[in-house]
Amino acid sequence: MIGEITFEQLGLSREILQAVADEGYSTPTAIQAEAIPVILAGRDVMASAQTGTGKTAGFTLPLLHRLQGVANTSVSPAKHPVRALIMAPTRELAIQIDESVRKYGKYLPLKVAAIYGGVSMLPQTQSLRNGVEILVATPGRLLDHIEQKVVNFSKTEILVLDEADRMLDMGFLPDIKRVMALLPQQRQSLLFSATFSVEIRRLADSLLRNPVKIEISRKNTVNESISHVVHLVNPDNKLRLLIHLIKQAELTQALIFVKTKQSAGKLATLLAQHDITALAIHGDKNQLQRTQALEAFKLGEVEALVATDVAARGLDIDKLSHVINFELPSTPEDYIHRIGRTGRAGSKGKAISLVSGHEKELLTNIERLLNAKLELIEVPGFIADISVPRTRLQREQTATPRHSGTHKRSSQSKQDPIFTQPYIPGSATAALINPVESGGDEPHKSILLSKKQQDTKPLPVLFKIPVKDKKE
Ligand code: AMP
Repeated sequence: MIGEITFEQLGLSREILQAVADEGYSTPTAIQAEAIPVILAGRDVMASAQTGTGKTAGFTLPLLHRLQGVANTSVSPAKHPVRALIMAPTRELAIQIDESVRKYGKYLPLKVAAIYGGVSMLPQTQSLRNGVEILVATPGRLLDHIEQKVVNFSKTEILVLDEADRMLDMGFLPDIKRVMALLPQQRQSLLFSATFSVEIRRLADSLLRNPVKIEISRKNTVNESISHVVHLVNPDNKLRLLIHLIKQAELTQALIFVKTKQSAGKLATLLAQHDITALAIHGDKNQLQRTQALEAFKLGEVEALVATDVAARGLDIDKLSHVINFELPSTPEDYIHRIGRTGRAGSKGKAISLVSGHEKELLTNIERLLNAKLELIEVPGFIADISVPRTRLQREQTATPRHSGTHKRSSQSKQDPIFTQPYIPGSATAALINPVESGGDEPHKSILLSKKQQDTKPLPVLFKIPVKDKKE
């Protein structure tokens, strides 16, 4: 039924339709077909949608349409007050939303800016001073600018909270409330969240007025174009199995999830030692490092991007074929977020989980949430002995969290030998250039080159290693 609807029928302006056509979208996705008319009608919305379903366009297209009437080419900052505020939990998501707004709004003279932490405030301050109609922001940095008095919300008509559940997980609720207090009462508010916990409903109650509730595929929140596979494997075989999987012909690139920043850096290092180009992306990286790692991955410069949950939230990687859970997440909802990085917008994706005996309870929790059994496939040479009795520590680490969506800072990864054994540099097959965890703040220091890549693939200029580093 939704497939029958066209973008033209949704009532969007000619300029927006042209931009959508330029992107090659033929029909609206389910969330777009449902949300666009409601948002165009000025209603508040509380929406849950699968990741990768096109929800960004779902709110951006009608938002642009609603602001088209005030779009102008004046050079006066006063003519460009903040009309719409879009808040997102992470810098990466803020950047992606900003890119989407620019893409879909390219035929409209509306100014957009993204403000997020980890980079200098000055250019952001300058864009705010120049005037901006659509402001995409992470809560913390937005408050910094508010304190500097460079942002004014007296003309703000639309508020969007994207990935609201993650914002609450990350402890942004007080920041969100402080921003809310500065917005005009008379406005349209849109709340997008992957899950609807008690906390989210409470936030929605305080924020939304008579919202239209939109839920896409509530029962099975997993994108159907993703296939799921579980390999049971002993912890000390995980790395070997991962390498085996990555070296298979069908797998050209994989986004690999681990639970901690330390594990991410270490795993990227170990992969590089085994001739696999790898980068790590996590919260300890500065913004430039994170952006460059993501760009290198998107460009196909690296085979493996090892990520923590927070860093990977909201990433949109075109045609990503594989997500690998090297470690299962503590909260089952994070499994859905993780695998939602693949199989986006109708393309096929594969989610592979490497599960050891002490993670079986986490697997059960995930299956319970999905209401489905994930397919178990034995890989010859990696058959697990999972009958090992679990220690008390392991039981504690895999216990279901009391509150869904609450991050449990587990040290489970430390149980895996690859994270407990010391790293021995200087393997004959790999060149490790300034390990990811070396703490250097220069982004180019964090790339790991496999020997194969050093020999064959040229790196983008940004990743070239400064001569002085080679001597270190
Ligand atoms: P999102 O869920 O907003 O992160 O979007 C996921 C991906 O779907 C992005 O790469 C969009 O460019 C793409 N996309 C959004 N809407 C459509 C559509 N109607 N048809 C095809 N692709 C789309």
